[in-house]
Order: sequence, then structure tokens, then C-alpha cells
Amino acid sequence: MFTLSRSGLASLIFPLLLILVLAGSASSHAEGYAVPMNVLGTATATPSPTATFSPTPSPTPTRTDTATPSPSPTPTRTPTHTATPTATATPTATPTFTPTPTPQPTPVAGAASIEGRVPILMYHFLSIPPANADIYRRDLSVSPENFEAQLAYLKDAGYTTIHLSDLVYFLAGVRDLPPKPIVISFDDGYADNYTNAFPLLEKYGFVATFSVVTDPLDFGDPRYMSWDNIIEMHAAGMEIGAHSKRHYDLRSDDTDFLVYEILGSKEAIEARIDEPVRVFVYPSGKYTPLTAKVVASANYWVALTTQYGAMETHATRFELPRIRIRGADTLTQFINKLENLP
Ligand SMILES: [Zn+2]
Repeated sequence: MFTLSRSGLASLIFPLLLILVLAGSASSHAEGYAVPMNVLGTATATPSPTATFSPTPSPTPTRTDTATPSPSPTPTRTPTHTATPTATATPTATPTFTPTPTPQPTPVAGAASIEGRVPILMYHFLSIPPANADIYRRDLSVSPENFEAQLAYLKDAGYTTIHLSDLVYFLAGVRDLPPKPIVISFDDGYADNYTNAFPLLEKYGFVATFSVVTDPLDFGDPRYMSWDNIIEMHAAGMEIGAHSKRHYDLRSDDTDFLVYEILGSKEAIEARIDEPVRVFVYPSGKYTPLTAKVVASANYWVALTTQYGAMETHATRFELPRIRIRGADTLTQFINKLENLP
């Protein structure tokens, strides 16, 4: 049933070969088309690099952003300033902050001999203490009523409240002070400073210096002011100082610890108010020469103690004494303190 003649075989092989040849040429044809397709591909590829180029500019701005984090190196700079504490080390560190609204006090010849008796009043809580408050809390708490009476007296007596940076300018011999200058200082940063003291100060057109412990603010501790409070008070003309991060005893020989507390609190505040912080207040008034040295090298201008006094000089600006206002002080006692300055 299946017989092939020679011619029959040839007639079978020939079409087979033809199919093979055709198939081969078809595949080469396909390759032939592949060339124009590649050309097309290349042509299409040409715009795509251009597309790749247009996004390229955006990386460049991104790099500028990456440069912005450089504020963090600031702590590293600290050692450099340590050399220059005496003669206004301040200018060197300033580049960290692009906006420097506060000009540097340039000491003049004889600045060290300038001295002044400017009372720096010291307050803590500004509220009626809770019923179970201990003797310390009571002593640290001045009632809003007493505080207002004190402000009213200061107003009538012709006092002008100034910032501590103004006092340093004066001690450096660059700026005069108004008649009867006085500094009102608050330590710790308690919530009642914002709710009670701030409105009264505004009512009498006075300014004060609020030196805050920064960790409670970072943690949102309700017993303390918030960063928003600080920003608002600063915008209203209040001076903001640093009182360390955690209110630890800073009589330590551990420089890293001191830098962390002293410079760390400064940077925490500066990040919020966009202005150099110049005032440091020693926690519980405790410090050593090393503490004062780190304060100076961290580019503060002035530091406050809890020692009783009112005599300030440029040379002693990192240990200025204050007049403590006690919770139990009557208005008469308050006036006596001002009229009998040590
Ligand atoms: Zn304190």
C-alpha cells in the first residue's frame, strides 16, 4: 500500500527541500526585519536618555538638602571654641545659624572694668502651691497676685526690664542700659510660667528671661511649658535661656556629660526659636570652673547662679548672682530687697 518509485521519491524530496529553503529564507527574512526594528529601537532609545537626563537635575537640589543636616556637627566644634572663652568667643560659632539677628557684643578696651549693679530677680513657680506642697515648693512659688503687685511696683518706680544679653552688651562696653534696668528670670520652665507669668508681663509691658530644662519639653511633660509656648513667648519678646537637659548636678569632671547637658539643651531650644541661646542657668546653682568653661565654650554669653547678689562684671559673667524672690515675700520685703542691693 505504500510504494515509492524513484521519481515518486524525488517528487517527495524536492518539495521538502523547497520548504526547507523557504523556511531558511523566511528566518533570514525575519533577521532582516530585525535590523530595522533595531533601528527603530535605537531611535526610540535616543529620547529615553534625554528623559533620563531631565530627572538628573533633581538629584542636585537633593544634595543641597543633604547638606542641611550639617547642624549636627555643631557639638564637634565645641572643643575649638574652648580656647577663646575670655574675649568673646562668640563670633566663631555663629556661622552655624544662618539667621543671626542678635549682633555679637564686641568687647572694647577696658570692658573688663565695666561693672554694674543690675538686679536679676529669680523666680520658679508662678502659682499658688497645692495644699500638700512641701516647704521647698512653697518657697519657690510666688502667687500671681503677689507677682502682679511686684510688677506694678516696678512700673511705678520706673524700672525697665532688659534681657541678659543686653546686660552683657553693657558689660562689654558696647551698649548703654536704660535707667533703672532690671532682669526678671524664671528657672525650670514650669507650665504656670506661660499661663500666669507671661500674660502679666505682657500687661505691664515687661520682658523676662525663661530658662528651661529641655527634656521635659521634648517628652511633653504637662507640668512644664510646651515648645509652642516657648516659641510664642519668644516671638513676643521674651528671652529664652537653657537650664540643661535633665537638671542634673553639673559639678562633674566628665566633659562629655557636661557638653551633652549644656550644649544639648542650647541646641534643643535654638532648633525651635531660630536664634542663638545666650543664657545658661546652672541647675540648683551648682557648678565648678569646668562647668563654667564648657558653658563659655558652648558659646553662651552669660550664666546665672543662685548666689545672692547684684554686682555684675564682664569677667564674672559666667557666674552672675541673683536676687531670690521667695513665696512668702511681702511687697515691702520685695521693695527692701531692691533698695538694699548687695
Ligand atoms: Zn532649676
